[in-house]
Amino acid sequence: MKTKKFGTSTLAIHGDLKDKQFRSVVYPIYQTSTFAVEKSDDYQKFIDEVEDFYIYSRYGNPTVKEVEKRLALIENAEDSILFSSGMSAITTTILSYVQSGDEIISLSSIYGVTYRFFRDYLPNFGVKVKFVELENIDEIEKLITARTKLIYFETPVNPTTRIIDIEKVVKLAKRENLTTIIDNTFATPINQNPLDLGVDIVLHSATKYLSGHSDLILGCVMSSRERIERIRKFKNVFGGNPDPHQAFLLGRSLKTLELRVKRQNENALQLAEFLSSHRKVRKVFYPGLSTHPEHELAKRQMRGFGGMLSFEIDGDIERAKKFCDSLKVALNATSLGSVETLVSIPVLTSHVKMSRDELEKVGISESMVRVSVGIENIEDILWDFEQALDSI
Ligand SMILES: *Cc1c(COP(=O)(O)O)cnc(C)c1O
Repeated sequence: MKTKKFGTSTLAIHGDLKDKQFRSVVYPIYQTSTFAVEKSDDYQKFIDEVEDFYIYSRYGNPTVKEVEKRLALIENAEDSILFSSGMSAITTTILSYVQSGDEIISLSSIYGVTYRFFRDYLPNFGVKVKFVELENIDEIEKLITARTKLIYFETPVNPTTRIIDIEKVVKLAKRENLTTIIDNTFATPINQNPLDLGVDIVLHSATKYLSGHSDLILGCVMSSRERIERIRKFKNVFGGNPDPHQAFLLGRSLKTLELRVKRQNENALQLAEFLSSHRKVRKVFYPGLSTHPEHELAKRQMRGFGGMLSFEIDGDIERAKKFCDSLKVALNATSLGSVETLVSIPVLTSHVKMSRDELEKVGISESMVRVSVGIENIEDILWDFEQALDSI
């Protein structure tokens, strides 16, 4: 049995840390900031980096560690580290890999706050970020200089669900000796494992699909043991450690991740097909549709097409707003990946700071509605979208 390769759900449920003291089936919550030593000499154990020796929860906590082990397993990583938010995971990871004078190449269509970190904050530390637009992704090569350290990207892209060829980016990065970092929040480890495709570091806003119940904010990074050790040293100083109780909730959610995401994949495909044939819908953006520009690539690269889709209402922003305000099951809320179906209008939320020109360039119109499809009964989601479309 030891050599068997277990499936994602089995790994997400059983992990490999058990409560040795009482053999509880559910790993306990160690809600403590500090840990007493038996003898003063025991502090040396921490300095010697003895595993599972805890002295203070900013450095490590058993509940957090148990969840980190399972997070690593489901992304096929050697190790993982949990953070207090997705942004803490992103900023700490980047800052542990760049110094003043370095350059980063980033896709321009990335999570808005990551974009702001790159554009408005990193330059203050002497780090230059060169943005590449999705349409010019093949031209990354031209942006590489002797100072380039990292390539940063996301796929599927928010909210157009465009797909980037991960292996192509990795091939170039390896040739040029650059570290690749991918935000895998939208795809989830169920639909896509970028480390298997050669990416160096994967990170997630665990607030989204991994937790899946809209009840916590966390982030995580998965990579080789060596890289995680490096990032952990920075986290110990920057202090983005997660709360043990939130970590416990995430650990609970991981047990149903595969079930939830598979249902979200199915629901999203059915909703995308329904919307595609509706006369009040101009365009649907979903990688699972044969009309999607990278449908073939998505089929090759992903195991499922995900729970995120967008569509353009035939009309202006007022019609899009009216649609969102008429929904009876789905909620009009930012965020994504939860059991509830959530809708949002990108030009009012995630992309509110972008100019008309910028929006046009990335293919976002004012009547676009983004949907994070939940796990409700599909008949009810379809009923809800139909009645809301009827009302506009
Ligand atoms: C939400 C999100 C983040 C930020 O994560 P927080 O947990 O909100 O800090 C980063 N990347 C993507 C793709 C996201 O959706």
